[in-house]
Amino acid sequence: MKLAVKKTPVKKAAAKKPAAKNGAKKTAKSRRNPLAPERICALLDLLAKAYPNAECALRHSNPWELLVATVLSAQCTDARVNMVTPALFRKFPTPTDFAHAPLAEIEEQIRSTGFYHNKAKSLNGAARKLTAEFAGTVPQTMDELLTLPGVARKTANVVLGVAFGKAVGVVVDTHVLRLSMRLELTQASQPILVEKDLMKTIPQDHWIAFSHELIHHGRQICIARKPRCSDCSLEPLCYSSDKTWSTH
Ligand code: SF4
Repeated sequence: MKLAVKKTPVKKAAAKKPAAKNGAKKTAKSRRNPLAPERICALLDLLAKAYPNAECALRHSNPWELLVATVLSAQCTDARVNMVTPALFRKFPTPTDFAHAPLAEIEEQIRSTGFYHNKAKSLNGAARKLTAEFAGTVPQTMDELLTLPGVARKTANVVLGVAFGKAVGVVVDTHVLRLSMRLELTQASQPILVEKDLMKTIPQDHWIAFSHELIHHGRQICIARKPRCSDCSLEPLCYSSDKTWSTH
């Protein structure tokens, strides 16, 4: 008599990843140098190709207006600042006008850019200092710019780079900060330290263009919450853990 044997399904053991291959991948990854000159060169080339005409989006017609617009752009979009500045500069055309303006009147003009109490105080203070100590002219050195109320390195770098064509440092705004970290150009998270790292890694003759390009890339492609990696020309060089799509 033939006995019926009941077959019980056997659960297959999870396939083990080949140890050698895994190890090799890890070693290759640990050997990758994000600051290698050839990678930096390739990044700069790709950025320049993607944003050949990248420039400052803040509308201005002289260094003072650029300084004002940059102060207003803190925690605010450039588009919003560009909506506010035409009327502001009509009402207060020169640093002297800003210096003599009652704070409440400046506040009223810039209210929609946010933090308007502090921003009005900074603009009034900067205008007073400018008229009292710099003959009403925006100075062209980092040290002098940093003496103006409300002006820190970011604003000073924007004014020096855009208005005077001087590459004294690298503009580190929210986009440059985020992208520098994603692209492993720095391990720091404080703007001042990120700027120091970028100044070591990026050739000085690229400092001005580099920050404009990165800002454009951060606005259009490498968005904070959901980067558009499948549309990103830097993707082959990017190993960020934030990637939403990857070829490697
Ligand atoms: S691949 Fe993605 S995360 Fe990397 S730079 Fe491009 S958009 Fe940003």
